[in-house]
Amino acid sequence: MQIVGAVLERTDAPAPFAASRPFTVGALELDPPSAGELLVRIEAAGVCHSDLSVVDGNRVRPTPMLLGHEAAGIVEQVGDGVTDVAPGDRVVMTFLPRCGSCAGCRTDGRLPCEVGTAANNAGTLVGGGIRLHRTDAAGVARAVHHHLGVSAFASHAVVSRTSVVPVAEDVPAEIAALLGCAVLTGGGAVINAGRPDPGARVIVVGLGGVGMAALLVAVALGHEVIGVDAVPAKLDLATELGAADAFGPAEAAERGIRAPVVIEAAGSARAFETALDLTAPGGTTVTVGLPAPDARASVSPLRLTAEARTVVGSYLGSAVPSRDIPRYVELWRSGRLPLERLVSSRIPLGRIDEAMDRLAGGGGLRQRITF
Ligand SMILES: [Zn+2]
Ligand SMILES: [Zn+2]
Repeated sequence: MQIVGAVLERTDAPAPFAASRPFTVGALELDPPSAGELLVRIEAAGVCHSDLSVVDGNRVRPTPMLLGHEAAGIVEQVGDGVTDVAPGDRVVMTFLPRCGSCAGCRTDGRLPCEVGTAANNAGTLVGGGIRLHRTDAAGVARAVHHHLGVSAFASHAVVSRTSVVPVAEDVPAEIAALLGCAVLTGGGAVINAGRPDPGARVIVVGLGGVGMAALLVAVALGHEVIGVDAVPAKLDLATELGAADAFGPAEAAERGIRAPVVIEAAGSARAFETALDLTAPGGTTVTVGLPAPDARASVSPLRLTAEARTVVGSYLGSAVPSRDIPRYVELWRSGRLPLERLVSSRIPLGRIDEAMDRLAGGGGLRQRITF
């Protein structure tokens, strides 16, 4: 079938992307779902830092690639062997397909699926195939890579059954989309990796979409949360969303604020150092951000030893999507997890370049693409 999507053509385009235009928004061919796959009509998609990291080359992926991985939609068709999801169901897309049987899948979310990671790196679906094509000027069909098994900046997507989690009809598409990346990652950094004691203080460093989701989940679970970010407007929003307090990095350090669990969600070496400094003796620093590959932080090994600290890397929130998403849905349904507050703006697909500039500038939380 013919679909409309936003294809990233190259990863060497200079910022601002509104001028260099690395995306082409236009028609593509989408093959029908193979065995174990689904055709999904995309209802909502969010613009995430992991999309920007492909655009600016920090995460090396093959191009052309149809980006977008935080999304939700309605199943329109199922491939052979899919029996537990049916046309009409709403599904959350997740960026972490799980085969269920590799060594990674047996670590309860601590390590990602090996098969899914290999497919994500290659820009294919888990089965190894590519379902997206364009016809070039010479009339030859050219493959377009999938992004993290999802490719949601499009009217439709074909995805593996292992890339989706069904949700009930009462969960709006916009909320469902957030569950697939920001909440899975930020919330997972708290509940899977940080594992704070009941009522314990939690500090979140870096209040973008993932950090704010971590903050919301920690507040919903009854923790005293302190937000830390260099952007003053984000501090105001953090306290509006239930943080007990919020500070810039320097002020947090000056005040000697500490917590037994500190989440670093900014994806920079500086933020990691800040998070380490704010961690109390005996505490745990969780790093869930994805800095540039060559970023280096300065750490005092003596402090780690003398203060019996733990540093935990939480890749993708140490998430098991089918286990964690229903938990967030319950918190949202109870009114304790106001995820609608994470959506900062709505933009049409044709303005994806500008959306990347806005994200790179640190503005907004989650820009939602409208179709
Ligand atoms: Zn994401
Ligand atoms: Zn696996």
